[in-house]
Amino acid sequence: MSGSEVQIDAMKKDSQAIQEAGGIIQVMPLTLANKIAAGEVVQRPASAVKELVENALDAGASSIQIHLQGAGSTLIQVIDDGCGMNEDDARLCFERHATSKIKTVSDLESIHTLGFRGEALASIASVSQVEMTTGTSPDGAAVKIKIEGGAEIETSPAAPMRGTSISVRNLYFNVPARRNFLKRPQTELKHILDAVQVLSLSNPRVAFSLVHDGNELLSAESESDSGLDALGLRACSLIPVSRPQELIQVEESTSYLGIRGLLGSPEGSRRTRGQQFMFVNGRYVKHRYLEHAVHASYEYLLPEGSYPFFVLFLDIDPRHVDVNVHPTKAEVKFDDERGVYGMIRAVVGRALGTALQTPDMNKARPLSGLELDIQDATPPTEGVSKIDASSFFGSGSDRVRERGEHISRASRSLYEGARLAMSVPASSTDESAGTTRGGLGEEGLLWQLHDTYILTQIRSGLVIIDQQMAHERILYEQAIACLKDGFGLSQQLLFPRTIEFSASDFSLLEDLMPDLKKLGFDVDAFGGNSVIVRGVPADISTGDERSVLDEIVDQYRLFEKVDRLTGRENLARSVASRGAVRAGMKLSSREMRALIDQLFQCEAPYASPDGRPTLITLSGEELRERFDRK
Ligand code: ADP
Ligand code: MG
Repeated sequence: MSGSEVQIDAMKKDSQAIQEAGGIIQVMPLTLANKIAAGEVVQRPASAVKELVENALDAGASSIQIHLQGAGSTLIQVIDDGCGMNEDDARLCFERHATSKIKTVSDLESIHTLGFRGEALASIASVSQVEMTTGTSPDGAAVKIKIEGGAEIETSPAAPMRGTSISVRNLYFNVPARRNFLKRPQTELKHILDAVQVLSLSNPRVAFSLVHDGNELLSAESESDSGLDALGLRACSLIPVSRPQELIQVEESTSYLGIRGLLGSPEGSRRTRGQQFMFVNGRYVKHRYLEHAVHASYEYLLPEGSYPFFVLFLDIDPRHVDVNVHPTKAEVKFDDERGVYGMIRAVVGRALGTALQTPDMNKARPLSGLELDIQDATPPTEGVSKIDASSFFGSGSDRVRERGEHISRASRSLYEGARLAMSVPASSTDESAGTTRGGLGEEGLLWQLHDTYILTQIRSGLVIIDQQMAHERILYEQAIACLKDGFGLSQQLLFPRTIEFSASDFSLLEDLMPDLKKLGFDVDAFGGNSVIVRGVPADISTGDERSVLDEIVDQYRLFEKVDRLTGRENLARSVASRGAVRAGMKLSSREMRALIDQLFQCEAPYASPDGRPTLITLSGEELRERFDRK
C-alpha cells in the first residue's frame, strides 16, 4: 500500500463524521487534517526522531538524549536541556501551525531555525500517544501533558525542571495500515541513526547520546566550539572515516556564498555515497547536482566508482534559497544553482590542490598522479563525459545526457579555473582582488582571437576567455541583482516605439512587465496587444531596438519549453542571452579590459548562466610539456 493509499484509508475512516454532518463540501475535522499531514511529515520513526531532535536544537539544548524501543515504533523519547515551555505554550505546541519560530511572512525569508512550519508536533501527536514534561526553569513550575491520537487527555503539574522530555509511544497505533508499512526494525533503526548522525554533525557543541533497547548506539561529547577542528573531532567520533588531522579543511566566502567544511583524503574514499554530508544554512540537504561538484573536483584523484568523504556547510542569504519546497525539508532550490556549482567546484578544487601539495601531508603519490592525469585528460574524452552524465543524472534521455556533458565540460574547465585561482585570487571580494585585475590583462597583454576569444596571460600561464559566455555571465548577474532590489539604468530611445504582439506573447509580457521595468525597460501597454517601448537597459548592446523585446520574449519561451526555466531566472537568462556580445564582434582593448574586470567581479565567474565555461587556462607546465621543454 502506498503512502497516499494509507492516507486515503485514514480519510475513509473519518469520512463517516463528514457525511453525518450533511452537505458535500466540509472543512476537515482537525484531527483528520493532522493525520493526513502526518503521512507527509512523519513518514517513518526516523522522521519523528528528526523533528523532535530539531526542536531540541531550536530550543538551544546543549545535551540531547534519545531513548528508543522497538526501533522507534514502540518508544521514541527525546530529552533536552533547552529553554523548555510554560504551560500555555506546552498545550499550544500540539496545535497545527503553532510555532514560536515565525510570525510574519517576511520571517519566512530569513529562517534560521530548523523548524518553522509548526506542524511536526501536531502531526506526531495525531498518530501516537505522547507524553511531554517541560519547564522553563529549575526552580519554576513544570507541566506534564498527555495526548493520544491528537486529543489532550491529561495535564498535571510536574517537578521543576529546565528543558523538555517528550515520549512518543506506539507510533501509528491508530493507523494500522501505516504501521504495517514500516520496514524491518534494522532498516528503521538505520534511518534513525542516519538522521541523528546528520544532526549531530552539524551541531558539534551539543552532546548527543542514542540508546536503543538499552544499548548505546551513538555517543558524542560536546566539543568546545563549532570551528573546523571541533567539526573534525565530531566527524571522526561519529564516522570512522579517518583521523581528524587527515581531513582537509575548507573555508572560503564571497558575498553570495560561504563554504566551510572538511574533505576526506582521496585514500579514504569509499565505494558508496554514504559519507557525504551537505548542509545549507545548517540544514541537511541531498543535492545530487551540488554533490557532483565536489566529486568532480576530486575527479582525477579517485579510483573510478569511489566517493570521497565530505562535510560541507554552505551559507547563503536565505533570500537566495528556498527551503520550503517539501515538508521534510531535505530539498532546497537556489536561485543560481549553476553559480553555486561553480563556486563549490573552484573552492574544493583549490583546497585539494593546496592540501595535497603541502609536503608535511606526505602526499607525494596523489600529487604526481594529479598532474599526470590532467595532462592525459586533455583533450577531454567522450567517455569521461558519458560516465559523468549517467552516474549523475541516472537517466538516459538525450536532453539529460546533453546537459550532463555540458556540466562535465564546464566542470573540467572549472577545475582549470580552480588552478588559475590558486595563483590569483578567485573572487573580487577577496581583499587582494586588486591583484586579480592587475594580473589579468595588464596594459598591452590583451589579444582578441577570431573576434571571439580574449587571450591574456596570468602568472601561471595563458587564459582564454570566451567573450560571449563571459558577457552572458556578467549580464545575468546584473539582471538578477536588478530584479532583486534595484532599478536597472534605462537608456531612453530617441523615438519611442510601439510593438504589436500576438495575444499570447502580449499576456506573457504583461506578466513580465514589473520585472522588465526593474531591469531598465521603460515599457507600457499601449492598447490592444501592443506595447510602447521608451527605453531599454543601458548595458544591453542595442542594435535594432525594435526587436529587443521581441527577441527576449522568444528567448523566454524557448527557455521555458526546453530548459523548464521559470520566472526571474528565465528572464535574467533571456536578457543575458539577448544582450551579450556575440562571437565575431570586434572588441577594443578597453572593452576587453572592462569585460575581464566585470567578469571577475561576478560571484561565479567561471561558468556562463547555462553552465558552459567562460574561460580556460593553459598552464606554463602544459605549454612546456607540449613543446617538449625540459
Ligand atoms: P516548529 O518546530 O516548526 O515550530 P513544532 O510542531 O515542531 O513546530 O513545534 C511547535 C512549537 O513547540 C515550537 O515552535 C516551539 O515553540 C515548541 N517546542 C517544540 N519542542 C520544543 C522543545 N523541545 N523545547 C522547547 N520548545 C519546543
Ligand atoms: Mg519542529
